Amino acid sequence: MPDDVHDSKHAHSVLPSDPTLRVKALETLLIRKGLIDPTALDAIIDTYQNKIGPKNGAKVIARAWSDLAFYDRLISDATGAVADLGFHGRQGEHIIALQNTNEIHNMVVCTLCSCYPWPLLGIPPTWYKSDAYRARTVREPRKVLAEFGVALPSETSVRVWDSTAELRYLVVPQRPKGTKGWREEQLAALITRDSMIGTGFPKDAQ
Ligand code: FE
Repeated sequence: MPDDVHDSKHAHSVLPSDPTLRVKALETLLIRKGLIDPTALDAIIDTYQNKIGPKNGAKVIARAWSDLAFYDRLISDATGAVADLGFHGRQGEHIIALQNTNEIHNMVVCTLCSCYPWPLLGIPPTWYKSDAYRARTVREPRKVLAEFGVALPSETSVRVWDSTAELRYLVVPQRPKGTKGWREEQLAALITRDSMIGTGFPKDAQ
């Protein structure tokens, strides 16, 4: 998101945001009472931030682009299809895959908080959690997309999906041109995190 989105909050930027402070206070209290182990927390965060990242999601999309039967299964039962590849777990209990086409471009938000398919994409980026993204994506999706550098033809409709604690979405971007015959590993390298949220496209084939 560009800087002007954050201007109104500039005066508050010296201190962490309210939610950050509240989380820190809660974490401190739980550790002091011996209810959680900070090393376990660090391990969980490291797993989702560094080990998973969006790599699992990219493997899913690469498989879908390469295998039509898997693609169909992903669209009809994404939770089952991704579990077949070994991806499941917290924040990924119910996943729906959204098919991008020339007619429809899908875009994902969580207007309430920051629900996100962790087992596939890791931890959500900061902008995904921002008030601006959550509010503006619903009101003016095309403008938000333009700020991400996503320009769509006027005949393409934008569909915005609001994630919840029960449902997490995975956008299946269109396969880039010039990738016929590519191996799944090659395809996966083109798939960006943002292309699976709907705020970006896959990289072009080189
Ligand atoms: Fe949420």
